[in-house]
Amino acid sequence: MTETMRVVTRREIIRSVPARFEMQYGKNRSGKLWKATVTHGEMIDALNALDTKTCTAEAVDEIIGNKTLTLNECDACGENKDVLLRLGEELDYDVRWWDICGDCLSKASDILSQSQEGASK
Ligand SMILES: [Zn+2]
Repeated sequence: MTETMRVVTRREIIRSVPARFEMQYGKNRSGKLWKATVTHGEMIDALNALDTKTCTAEAVDEIIGNKTLTLNECDACGENKDVLLRLGEELDYDVRWWDICGDCLSKASDILSQSQEGASK
C-alpha cells in the first residue's frame, strides 16, 4: 500500500511541466504543434529556461499556448484550484486516485455527518 492522502499544489504541477512536455514532445524537436511558428525544441528550451520554483502558471501557459499542462482540477467539481487533496494510491502502472478540492471535501464531510445521524436513528 502506498500513500492514500497527500496534497497536490499548483506549484508541484508547474514544476513538473518542463519534464512532462519534454517526455511527450522531445523525441521530435523540430516538430510543431498548435503554435505553427515555434518548434517543440524551442518550446522545451523556453520551458527549461523558466524558474519553475517561482514562475506563474500564466508564464508556462504562454509558452505552450494553452492551459492544459498547468491545470489542477478537482475530480468532483471540475474547478481549477491551487491546492487539492489526492485520495488513493499512486501506482506506476495505474491511476487509482481522485484529486479533490476543499469545497468538495467539506460537502462530502457534511453528507457523511448527516448520513451518520440518520443511520443511528
Ligand atoms: Zn471540487
